[in-house]
Amino acid sequence: MTIADTLIKQILAQTELPQLSPASDDEAPEEDLLPPGIFADSPDFDVFRDRVPDSGERFPDPAESPAILGTYQHMSSPGIITLYRRNIEGCWKSLINHAQRRFPFVTSKDAERVLDLLVLSVYQHERFHYVCDFCRRLFGGQFDRLHEEALAVAYEWQWLRANLGGNTFFGRMHPTLGRIVVRELFDQRAPGYRDWRNFANAAIFHDAVAAYVHPTGGQVFAGTSFNLGRWAVEHIADDRNKAWEEKIGT
Ligand SMILES: [Zn+2]
Repeated sequence: MTIADTLIKQILAQTELPQLSPASDDEAPEEDLLPPGIFADSPDFDVFRDRVPDSGERFPDPAESPAILGTYQHMSSPGIITLYRRNIEGCWKSLINHAQRRFPFVTSKDAERVLDLLVLSVYQHERFHYVCDFCRRLFGGQFDRLHEEALAVAYEWQWLRANLGGNTFFGRMHPTLGRIVVRELFDQRAPGYRDWRNFANAAIFHDAVAAYVHPTGGQVFAGTSFNLGRWAVEHIADDRNKAWEEKIGT
């Protein structure tokens, strides 16, 4: 179990969501609808758009800004992925509150799926920073903070696209809610982050990753069908062969 799964369980355990009671013939099926404004005291979602680079040498716990949901601390061996519980919980509740104002039929189950989406997105984002750091150690590339943030968000996008199918947590979410949530999560406005759209296309993304993590790799693999960028993101962050640690921050 990753820290993403652990954190999802922790947040749900301390949040009271309405649960389905046994169905009877004269009851509407939407009985686990969230009460309107259940998270009305959560911060405005714009707070979470004020993102600052989350890949670097050192990060305090608790995080310095409520917008920091996760960080990746560069390797002095190992690298460290941290997910911040309080900030992620605040972001989730803000996202639900925002969505409810546009679509009042958010159920408890769908609220849980939004939490899955948020936590796993942040986790994938930090794993991408690990991939970049790992490659720098091997291939000697240069750290480009803002370019790496654009690629990290683009990687979240690629990951989401791979999880859109009908039997995934996202596929089971109400499509209207899904559209609202994804639009908000990817409406990035901070420097670096907002450039992710340049790499939304998978082929362009993989080429950009290859050029970033191993600038001379193009010559090494010229004339082959090997795609270094795709290999890096698909294989380096391998749970069974990892050079990072992960923890839940406060
Ligand atoms: Zn980042």
